[in-house]
Amino acid sequence: MDCLFCKIIDGEIPSTKIYEDEYVYCFKDIAPIAPIHYLIIPKVHISGADQINGENSVMTAKVFEAAAKIAKSEGIESYRIINNCGDDAGQTVKHLHFHFLAGVKMGWGPESLGITK
Ligand code: 5GP
Ligand code: ZN
Repeated sequence: MDCLFCKIIDGEIPSTKIYEDEYVYCFKDIAPIAPIHYLIIPKVHISGADQINGENSVMTAKVFEAAAKIAKSEGIESYRIINNCGDDAGQTVKHLHFHFLAGVKMGWGPESLGITK
């Protein structure tokens, strides 16, 4: 399958690995928007959050489990996890991924989420 993140999991495309287990892979985002910006992805190909179902939803739980482990191991007390689903929400890579952001005081509200209207 021609999927960028599947290629990253396979090591076909290099990435800076942060964490890996049987279910998920975590690596640095190539264009960070925060001092700490990781992507956490399930190792199985799921094209987006709209494709989560009873068969594969355990993968999302594994992503959040990994996030908690990563935060603990790096001494991160606050973090934000973001998923963009669909074009208007800003999803550019069609392999389910969660942005893990930390290392800065974050705002909350329409502007901080990029909502302009
Ligand atoms: P989305 O916009 O789909 O929610 O997030 C995709 C993310 O993947 C973006 O933050 C983008 O910077 C990151 N990204 C795109 N291509 C690559 C790549 O080749 N390597 C890494 N490490 N990150 C990438
Ligand atoms: Zn994929």
